[in-house]
Amino acid sequence: MFDATRCNDCGDCFVQCQYIDYSQDKAVSEIKALKQGMPADILRDCITCVACNEYCPSGAKPFDLICARQEETGIRFVDVAVADFIDETLTIVPNEIIEGDPEKPALSLCVMGHAYPPDMTDSALFRGLTLVRGSDYYSRIVHLHNGLESRVKEHARQFIDNFARLNKKEVVFVHDDCYTLAAIKAPEYGIAVPFRPVHIFEYMVRYLKEHTDRIVPLNKKIAYQRPCISRYAPEKERYVDEFFQLIGAERVKRKHDRRDALCCAFGLLEINPEKGTDILERNIGDAQAHGADAMTFLCPGCYWLMSGQCEDRGLASMFVIDLCRMALGELPFSSRPWNGSQY
Ligand code: SF4
Ligand code: SF4
Repeated sequence: MFDATRCNDCGDCFVQCQYIDYSQDKAVSEIKALKQGMPADILRDCITCVACNEYCPSGAKPFDLICARQEETGIRFVDVAVADFIDETLTIVPNEIIEGDPEKPALSLCVMGHAYPPDMTDSALFRGLTLVRGSDYYSRIVHLHNGLESRVKEHARQFIDNFARLNKKEVVFVHDDCYTLAAIKAPEYGIAVPFRPVHIFEYMVRYLKEHTDRIVPLNKKIAYQRPCISRYAPEKERYVDEFFQLIGAERVKRKHDRRDALCCAFGLLEINPEKGTDILERNIGDAQAHGADAMTFLCPGCYWLMSGQCEDRGLASMFVIDLCRMALGELPFSSRPWNGSQY
């Protein structure tokens, strides 16, 4: 939630935005207009990457203000019909619970089950975990990209209650969106979360530390596609670094990772193909220019959209869980582009 008491109208958030070209004066006038509820170009220019929440040096969370104003004004990046279509599609995915060891955590696959590598849950990584998937376990965080946070908030309590009924101490979230709702947004909305949300990177780090004898260092340079929504919980980046160390791979030190990561251009390619293609070229080209052997993905949306684009440009691609399985000797090191069914 935007915190006006932390904002001094410096404009740095929008000056640093990688998708717009505002002068300092323009950025200052835009943040002031947003705060005063006045018309602002940023409502349409913003591609909703959340990065300015990290750019703000005082933690005011300017993207959250953009998102709120987009909802109030109806001026937004995507048409509301797209948001309605997403809801119609993703709220009818059948639910499934595959019971595991009562003492072990649950693994949330939300509605993305078929978007992940098809044999992913066969891994020893997840042995004994209770697997849950389907619309009951879908966060709707995607609506932060649609200027419709009310849809996230309305569903948040039901989402937490659905997991609470599993009676688990811990729930491991593969999808960054769902982790963000459980770990960050639900508490922000005043909703008590009676289990510990565990990010998949934390879980993999824990598993790797308990099974160091199984690790065969990969000795590869891997570019990481950081999901936009991960900017809500930047503290978990330490698990990403630890993960790369444990699997014996270098997280390629490239321009567009960490704070300067680029959006996968999901959605943008439809709305503004020229801009979307430019972002993809910059992102994949940056990985290649820094000597990456492969690009790895955490978000199923990034994986779905970008892995084929990487392959077309001669860069191998793989989901992070596959990368972990390669270091555990379950899979050979090879490209594993998205080949799931549509979700
Ligand atoms: S939100 Fe942060 S970076 Fe943006 S104008 Fe306010 S203080 Fe400056
Ligand atoms: S959310 Fe991203 S695209 Fe939107 S203003 Fe902030 S940095 Fe720019």
